[in-house]
Amino acid sequence: MQLNCHHSSMRTISALVLLVGIALHLLQRGRQPSAPPAFKPVTDGLYSLIQRCQPLPFLPGVPIAVYLVREGSSWALVDAGVPAHAGQLVEALRVTLPPNDTLAAIILTHSHPDHVGALPQLLQAYPHVPVVAHEGEAPFLTGEKHYSPPSGLGARVARWAGVAPETPLQVPRERLHLLEEPLMDFSSYGLEELVYIVTPGHTPGHISLLHSASHTLLAGDALSFIRPSLRRARDSDARDTRVVGTLAGLTLRAEPLTLCLKPSCDRAKADTSFCMLADGMQYDNLLASHDWAGGGRGGWTQAALQAVAASMPRCQELSKLAAEGSPDGDAHAEYEVEEQEEEEDEYE
Ligand SMILES: [Zn+2]
Repeated sequence: MQLNCHHSSMRTISALVLLVGIALHLLQRGRQPSAPPAFKPVTDGLYSLIQRCQPLPFLPGVPIAVYLVREGSSWALVDAGVPAHAGQLVEALRVTLPPNDTLAAIILTHSHPDHVGALPQLLQAYPHVPVVAHEGEAPFLTGEKHYSPPSGLGARVARWAGVAPETPLQVPRERLHLLEEPLMDFSSYGLEELVYIVTPGHTPGHISLLHSASHTLLAGDALSFIRPSLRRARDSDARDTRVVGTLAGLTLRAEPLTLCLKPSCDRAKADTSFCMLADGMQYDNLLASHDWAGGGRGGWTQAALQAVAASMPRCQELSKLAAEGSPDGDAHAEYEVEEQEEEEDEYE
């Protein structure tokens, strides 16, 4: 009996807490800033716009970074954010791009809904600009396949939270430029200092981008820094760029996470991509699309990434194979032979 009573009061409290949360969430949604946020310089030739999305009340907003890369008068947009902030992104782009410069490409790290949100508006605003993505993402861009169910309760909740489009995405085939090679630069778009590397796992055709001019790696969702860890505050925290906040002697840190959600993610490939990003190329700063610390402008050093990779079984296995001289140990080799397998378990 006591248990029942306890349960019913718990239910009432939970319902109240949820209602207050929803009210706060709606209030926050109603208070969207009217002025468009501008892209802010991260480093030479690289700019970012950070959007925030709160899928559920009480959860801290997940940051979503959209980048702009510039070389001379050629610009490329990297990812298109969430649908809820599509108008702001288009406006920020208009404000940031000098009138005589060219948007040469809209490059997608992958086509999850939180990375393609403004595509319909961008296709209209920039009718001659191609959408560049790896061929593994093509069916998800043309509307042939879907990363999340386009209808049902889940879809309604995602639309309500502003992370899913009102209507399924359908990029006209003639607007798509598909990448087939495992690694190549974007010189055909006037961007010689931008190179893509195929980093599958999170999605079948996920790519990361190396901006060689600024020694910055844009890792997309190959890894994220949204896993919280609460620890006792230490003296060294003042210099720790991963500290998101401090409270009552505790610090909240953003820890790396290989975001691998079924059914679109392949865990083994995601881990291999992570190891490759940690050890397979040189850069000073790694920026992920979702990073609580640094607001998408802080980044991770390669040494910090390597320290994480050293603790991952897959990376240990690959470096052991590399030390033994096995071709399997060369993470790059895997990408050269990688065939985009037909995944049967996507939602249709
Ligand atoms: Zn994402």
